Amino acid sequence: MFNAAKEDGIALLLGSAYRSYDYQASLYNGYVANRGKEYADTISSRPGYSDHQTGLAVDISDASQANFLSQSFENTAEGQWLHDNAHLYGWIMRYPKDKQDITGYAYEPWHFRYVGVEYATAIYETDPDETFEEYFGVEGGDYAENG
Ligand SMILES: [Zn+2]
Repeated sequence: MFNAAKEDGIALLLGSAYRSYDYQASLYNGYVANRGKEYADTISSRPGYSDHQTGLAVDISDASQANFLSQSFENTAEGQWLHDNAHLYGWIMRYPKDKQDITGYAYEPWHFRYVGVEYATAIYETDPDETFEEYFGVEGGDYAENG
């Protein structure tokens, strides 16, 4: 996917991929310490519940990293390219815009989950902002609460 983006003049950077339980715990506990539990639960998974612990999730940035882990990433050429093309390489935007009540997570235009080309394309063609939960008919939004 990164090579295909490059051919379109889009330089992507991998920001974060696999995380161990201990690393996720340190991230989550850091957010709780700085911003409180309620806020932490909207932006970070509790240890044991992160998409990143599966090894199937990535956070992607533009080369400047000016919009890394920021919703403003959606307005960059890189964010647009990913939104429009990631499914062709098997990735879905895991936490789309205005779907927090379904996914349990605020909009994360940088976070992609690998589901394979067949499913990613089917999900995208249902709706570019279709959620994993909607497509598979599974319950979302309770990862944090159950953590
Ligand atoms: Zn992520």
